[in-house]
Amino acid sequence: MTDAPTFTGNKALQIEEALSFEIGSYDQTGVDLPEPSGKTDRLGGLNRDREIGLPGLSEPETMRHFVRLSQKNYAIDMGPFPLGSCTMKHNPRLNEKIARLPGFGDLHPLAPESAVQGALELIDQLAFWLKELTGMPAVAMSPKAGAHGELCGMMAIKAALEARGEAETRTRVLAPESAHGTNPATAVQCGFTVENIPGDETGRVDLAALKEKLGDDVAGIMVTNPNTCGLFERDIRAIADAVHDAGGYFYCDGANFNAIAGKVRPGDLGVDAMHINLHKTFSTPHGGGGPGSGPTVLSEALAPFAPVPYVTFEDGKYKLIETRRAAKADDGESMGRLTAFHGQMGMFTRALSYMLSHGKDGVKQAAEDAVLNANYVLARLKKEMSPAFEGYCMHEALFDDRFLKDTGVETIDFAKAMIDEGYHPMTMYFPLVVHGAMLIEPTESESKRELDLFCDALLSLAKRAKAGEVEAFKAAPVQAPRRRLDETAAARKPVLRWIPKEPAEAAE
Ligand SMILES: *Cc1c(COP(=O)(O)O)cnc(C)c1O
Repeated sequence: MTDAPTFTGNKALQIEEALSFEIGSYDQTGVDLPEPSGKTDRLGGLNRDREIGLPGLSEPETMRHFVRLSQKNYAIDMGPFPLGSCTMKHNPRLNEKIARLPGFGDLHPLAPESAVQGALELIDQLAFWLKELTGMPAVAMSPKAGAHGELCGMMAIKAALEARGEAETRTRVLAPESAHGTNPATAVQCGFTVENIPGDETGRVDLAALKEKLGDDVAGIMVTNPNTCGLFERDIRAIADAVHDAGGYFYCDGANFNAIAGKVRPGDLGVDAMHINLHKTFSTPHGGGGPGSGPTVLSEALAPFAPVPYVTFEDGKYKLIETRRAAKADDGESMGRLTAFHGQMGMFTRALSYMLSHGKDGVKQAAEDAVLNANYVLARLKKEMSPAFEGYCMHEALFDDRFLKDTGVETIDFAKAMIDEGYHPMTMYFPLVVHGAMLIEPTESESKRELDLFCDALLSLAKRAKAGEVEAFKAAPVQAPRRRLDETAAARKPVLRWIPKEPAEAAE
């Protein structure tokens, strides 16, 4: 046999899959419905006079189409997903079972309070544990992603400044150079200007440089801890004190809470607001920009400005406080609503299931194991790869591209070669402060056997790069159906519309 293209375009069990529009036909549906009888037309002459133009497939064809599409994706249920900062941990099946209990899964967000006491109690319990784990007095449950939680926290800071009459003068927000892109984006969205805080040679915030930038025009700082270099900010208390002394607030990006949950309470570190990505630390699924959840804990100073709705417990009943008026406190007024309804109920159920099944000791052990696994990877890989900073890491191991120097192989080629080995690449070129960065976060859910195979694969790739196999790296991936994609063209000139081959016929 040769490696010529197959007749079908399939590569063994990797099946080529066209769009449903290309394989379906306009006159077919998967179900047989009787012609409706006795219908009264209430559309006042606005009836559609053309076919809707949706292609139909039989039920088995539909099934196959979507199953084949799903197989084109890499998933945490297929193999290790070492994307640093993203915390791609296992999503326990127990959580799925709990979320599908009809009393939770079939709720309508407009159901009357009296009919959903259990659901409100669940939101309240999850809120309780989030406050307990962070040592913070309040939490906004409605933000629907980490970035949305940042927006919530920064809007609370803005509201607090307005209440102090300083919103006009305090316009600068400081953020380290290594910050996740959502931090500066959020600050700008809230009308602040952003200024970089330089890092020191250990990969942490340069405290002296930070202090120099503080002043009475600073609204606050946004610092990630552990930071995006996978390191704990040792000066975090001093940072918080300096910002508070200057009259600003401390927003902590809590995306990396997985490394410290049960070990450190951000409230004890002087944090004023912090989002928690339930889809990272608390094992709820990450879904194509979909079901994220980013509850945001708030300090005493910011709590009065928390968004509505939130759950309270009065006279033996759970209640949703829905309006700003009802939420008004003596020392401030709620910022209002951030979303329709109260947040991602399905994610709340899963996160609480994760917490309760782990217990106090289990949550802590998960954090410890996440750090242990990352340090194991760091220790094994540093034989051939170059760690960006000295010493132990927290939950993720950061490498730079010094080990590829003079090989002609770049970070992107190395990552593409990992695809041929069956791995989703690690986070590449982030954080920006490290040249050719490769950020690996194994999480606690990987076994030693999986970690060893992963490390062996990367060590072998590093050796091949140093042995001069640059051509092979530039060609990678060779096993993936579409080989190497032109990512720049995909980003700059995305094809977002499907144009039918015979438009006239399709529209008739
Ligand atoms: C994931 C992440 C975010 C954003 O969270 P989303 O839930 O993806 O919006 C912000 N900061 C850091 C450090 C992150 O890792």
